[in-house]
Amino acid sequence: MPSHVESPIVDLRSDTVTRPTAAMRDAMSAAPLGDDVFGDDPSINLLQTTLAERLGFEAALFVPTGTQSNLCAILAHCQRGDEYIVGQMAHAYRWEGGGAAVLGSVQPQPLEHQADGMLALAAIEAAIKPDDVHYARTRLLALENTIGGKLLPFDQVLAATQLAQHRGLARHLDGARLFNAATAQAALSGDEVFHEARRIAGCFDSVSVCFSKGLGAPVGSVLCGSRDFIKRAHRLRKMVGGGMRQAGVLAAGALHALDNHVDRLTDDHANCKRLADGLAGIDGLQVETPQTNILFVELTGGARERSADLLAHLKRHGVLALGLYQLRFVTHLDVDSAGIDRAIAAVRSFFKA
Ligand SMILES: *Cc1c(COP(=O)(O)O)cnc(C)c1O
Repeated sequence: MPSHVESPIVDLRSDTVTRPTAAMRDAMSAAPLGDDVFGDDPSINLLQTTLAERLGFEAALFVPTGTQSNLCAILAHCQRGDEYIVGQMAHAYRWEGGGAAVLGSVQPQPLEHQADGMLALAAIEAAIKPDDVHYARTRLLALENTIGGKLLPFDQVLAATQLAQHRGLARHLDGARLFNAATAQAALSGDEVFHEARRIAGCFDSVSVCFSKGLGAPVGSVLCGSRDFIKRAHRLRKMVGGGMRQAGVLAAGALHALDNHVDRLTDDHANCKRLADGLAGIDGLQVETPQTNILFVELTGGARERSADLLAHLKRHGVLALGLYQLRFVTHLDVDSAGIDRAIAAVRSFFKA
């Protein structure tokens, strides 16, 4: 048996593939529980108050998924016939089954992204409809940070959210990877990660954070906002079937992640950079410079036709990735630098580089 088969799989498909650590499982099994539909689950209540407080909001709501979190947020901000401005590639537009339109009669107004992932200020301004019977009412600006692994430039986030506020729009952040964004921003500013997370969150009326991505919890997102907003979102969560009972067992995993897995995101970012450096210079690959934990690698020239072969080759060497002409590698807490080196070696052996 080749040695790689005995090693654990280096699964770089997504940061959602992480499994709870032993310490996280201990925290989950020790969690005090109650019926959260009665508001009685101490672990959920603690997670909600902790994240709200750390990000500077009045209240928060635990939800099973980021999709449900964004849906509740959009529906809590908008009425039927309203519209939200959102990126063409944003999860809350492109990857959520059209939920806001299907379930809320809220129309998206998607905009193209700049190369840095941000929406152009002028494009946002031009998309805000006048108060006229012909138009849907523009009600909400929804941004995503990080988006495609990119940190949105903070000065632009500030300018866009200030513009939205001046024009009477609510502002929602899909911060599924808010702490990756904060980690990257902290590396630029020298400030502390939670400080940066609060700075980013402070530009918005609501923020959704995923715990099942880089933070390594098995399930759960938390939506933060004002007390009134969270009250509306709570009713919507019930309506879409998100009222859970002793789900504190899950919230305890998220709380553990908040205390133990935020600071270590720098490791994931360093590993992503290590992977990019290790793949640089291979003929047939165009390697992006990663800002956080997601690396995109474009196949060029003749390599484009060999995409499926490359993925199969990687799989035989115990390395998993996703993509077609553009491959995606995502680092997370179940991959260490030795795993990254195995991934680099596997790619290099395919290209005999
Ligand atoms: C993963 C993700 C979500 C939510 O995903 P779920 O699978 O529903 O938890 C939302 N937004 C972004 C940017 C994401 O990456």
